[in-house]
Amino acid sequence: MQSVYQLLFVMCVFLFQGCATQPINGGSADQRFNDFKASLIVEYWEYFPGLAITAGYYKHDDVLSVPNQTNRQKLDKFLTRSSRQLSEFSARSLSASNQTDYLVLQNHIKRLAWNLDTLKPFQWRADNYNVAREFNLILNTDYKPLNDRLRAVRTRMRYIPDYYAAARVNLTDPTLEHTLLAIEQNKGGLGIWTTLLPDKVQQSTLPETEKQQILQESSFTAEVIESHINWLEHKLSALEQQGARSFRLGKELFDQKFRLEIVSQFTAEEIYQKALAAREEIHDQMIMISKSLWLHYFPNEIYPADELTGVKRMISEISQEHVAREEFVEAIRRQIPELELFIVSNDLLELDHTRPLVVRETPAFQRGVAGASVNSPGPYDATANTYYNVTPLDHFSPEQAESYLHEYNSRMMQILNIHEAIPGHYTQLMHANKSPSLVKTLFQNSAMIEGWGLYAERMMLEEGYGDHEPELWLLYYKWLLRSVTNTILDREIHLHHLSRSDALNMMINQAFQETTEAEEKWRRATLSQVQLTSYFTGFTEIYSFREEIREALGDDFTLRDFHNQFLSYGSIAVKYIKAIMRYDLGLSKSIEL
Ligand code: ZN
Repeated sequence: MQSVYQLLFVMCVFLFQGCATQPINGGSADQRFNDFKASLIVEYWEYFPGLAITAGYYKHDDVLSVPNQTNRQKLDKFLTRSSRQLSEFSARSLSASNQTDYLVLQNHIKRLAWNLDTLKPFQWRADNYNVAREFNLILNTDYKPLNDRLRAVRTRMRYIPDYYAAARVNLTDPTLEHTLLAIEQNKGGLGIWTTLLPDKVQQSTLPETEKQQILQESSFTAEVIESHINWLEHKLSALEQQGARSFRLGKELFDQKFRLEIVSQFTAEEIYQKALAAREEIHDQMIMISKSLWLHYFPNEIYPADELTGVKRMISEISQEHVAREEFVEAIRRQIPELELFIVSNDLLELDHTRPLVVRETPAFQRGVAGASVNSPGPYDATANTYYNVTPLDHFSPEQAESYLHEYNSRMMQILNIHEAIPGHYTQLMHANKSPSLVKTLFQNSAMIEGWGLYAERMMLEEGYGDHEPELWLLYYKWLLRSVTNTILDREIHLHHLSRSDALNMMINQAFQETTEAEEKWRRATLSQVQLTSYFTGFTEIYSFREEIREALGDDFTLRDFHNQFLSYGSIAVKYIKAIMRYDLGLSKSIEL
């Protein structure tokens, strides 16, 4: 799942160490800190009006921030000032909850500053420049009357020529890969101006002259974006001839980005080593299961000499059990109550029926990537529905549908539902939205969110979901192996110059992936950095933390209490949740990282 909006994090290692004797007080320092947080967030949205829209904060819906040097300098000043204001608080004088908010904010500011002065993606990521998403959201989200939204769109649209002009000034050193993506995505967004906006204008009750003006401005906007696409295409052929910046980040930037974005107790190298070891262990488990099932599925054959070949065949055999293509959405819908029932009857965590999950076919404007995703409401609209978008398989050829259903076979579909929905992303984000701290819900950590999705799968199977069926476990391990392999790929591609063919080889032969899936993953790995590492990092930290608390609490430990409490701290980095939860459980006397 891609989080609805992704904010940024920085990591801190030097605060709050040792010194476990001072009491943590509430009181007026907290009141001042609460005021500071509130005004910081209000001001923050002025610098990120687009991000505000994706978070459900619509005050600046008529502003598009132009990515020029002047605005970067303004942001830089804002960050410096906020950092100074933050440092004026003595963290020790704050409540435990505010101490963690302090850390989250401090890291967030550092990460933004690091992006401005070190990573500088504005110079090389051509795909950063695309206005489609927020215009789409404004036009398709019913947060105020259509006429008012159209007027906001109109005002916001006027920034677009300056926006793309600034992009062309910024892009001094683009990579080929991100330039290609930018061309593709900007082309994909043209429909907003040629179809979506004109349709919405027709549906509105605006005066006829105003309608005509918007339509004219809309077609002018399409021209502006087309000419930017032209520029990108010229740039692309020049890059192809002259050579371009590599998409590979290199060790230094990769390690820094990992520290600032993932915010883990481990370093990137440690996580990479853990992933290598995990791959060995998972292979052993998969071989053991495949051997135990072999005679049942292949009574007339002996197990292959190459043990992983046996695993691959076993997976392929089991994967043939899947629903018919036209039943795909309905089969997912039917499964949600079964997952809920299992959780309630095993007392695993709290669900909230006042904030239900609505399974729906993916809306047309969100389609394009096949599969399933969750749209959770942000903290500004916490009681709104959560949608589980499932794309029907109508657009596939018979062969494509078969291949897709092979991947999302009957058992894998259950793991997918656990991950995306219950008790995975939907449940986690529903709990997060109940956190009284806006900082803990807005400033999301992707390793925590994705780690929870993976943790949920493992926990459900361990608790007996699917009756400990070996076939289900085998496919679960395939799924886990995907995240483990993502971690290995991410580091080897960005640091060790792993080639495309070696990467495909690894995915197909060591992680049992289909060729199309592996090719798609290669592409994603060239376009992202560190993100593919987030899943396994979060999983590793959550799982080992649960075991730590189980041991510390002994007979007082219950899964239900652990889960409810863990999820109550919002979507912040696992490292911070650990610190505050240990303190709240009386296992440590202060917030210690
Ligand atoms: Zn996910």
